[in-house]
Order: sequence, then C-alpha cells, then structure tokens
Amino acid sequence: MCERSIAVVSHCILNQNVVVHGLERAVGAFPFVKNIPEKIGLVQLPCPEFLILGPNRPSMTYKDYLEINDYRQKCGQLLASTILELKGYQKVGIKIIGLIGIAQSPNCGITGQRGVFMTEFLRLCQDNNIKMPYIEVPIDYPEDHQFEEKVNLFLKGDH
Ligand code: SF4
Repeated sequence: MCERSIAVVSHCILNQNVVVHGLERAVGAFPFVKNIPEKIGLVQLPCPEFLILGPNRPSMTYKDYLEINDYRQKCGQLLASTILELKGYQKVGIKIIGLIGIAQSPNCGITGQRGVFMTEFLRLCQDNNIKMPYIEVPIDYPEDHQFEEKVNLFLKGDH
C-alpha cells in the first residue's frame, strides 16, 4: 500500500474568498493547487481574519492584529480542532509533510515577521510533538513561476 500523507495549507490557498475584497490573487483556489499530487490530502487551516473580523474587515498590519483584544487566544481556539486532527494522523502513521503559508501575511506569514496565527500554530505543533516543516507562497505569486517547482519539491517530503 502506498504511504498516506497530508499537507497543511493556509485557508486562502484553497479559497481566495476569505481574502480582503480587492486583494485576491486568484478566483477560487491558487493555480498551483491543481498540480498537487492527488495522493496528498490537504488539511485547510481556518482563516482567522475572516472568522474573527469578518468579510468586510479592512486590510490590517501585524501590529494592528496584536492590538486586538485576545486575538492570540482566539487564534489558539480556532486551531484546536486542527491540532486534534493532526494528532489523529500521527497516531495512525499518516505522514505530515508540512505547512504551506502565505509570505508577508500578518497572520499566515512564516519567515521574516512571523504572522500571529502561524506563531500560534507552530507553537501548538511544537507543544504536541508534531514536526512541521514549511514553505510559503511568495508575495508575487502567481507571477513567480518558480514557486510551482519549489512547492512540488517540498511536497515530495524529503526534508
Ligand atoms: S489570514 Fe491567512 S488564510 Fe486568511 S486571508 Fe490572510 S493569509 Fe489567507
């Protein structure tokens, strides 16, 4: 039987409708998604911005999010079911390949200034002994055509 595996993705990779209206970079899902091998399951994280502030929120900075009362805790609450899900996969030996975030997002950025939501997510992964390598969709995607190659390599899971 072939190895079972999953990758965790920021919500808007599969559904751009949660993005602040006018800043979407695709209609529906990001184009690279159609090249993800179908044997890899995708676990879609919740979108904290949409769920906490709603569809009509303005575009906000990292600092703006930090100033929202209990924002970090609310992110943690939103992530609880995903952590439970990932622990379930670990228990039965389904490989967790890693995480695909969104570069420079105040919530889903991972490198540079790590987003509020990803800080919480990666902390919870660490607390629960879930290894979570990562990659980010660059700010100039879909114009950055090299990203598709990079993500395909990442999803091979050899890291
Ligand atoms: S919070 Fe994350 S999932 Fe939501 S729109 Fe921003 S980058 Fe996408």
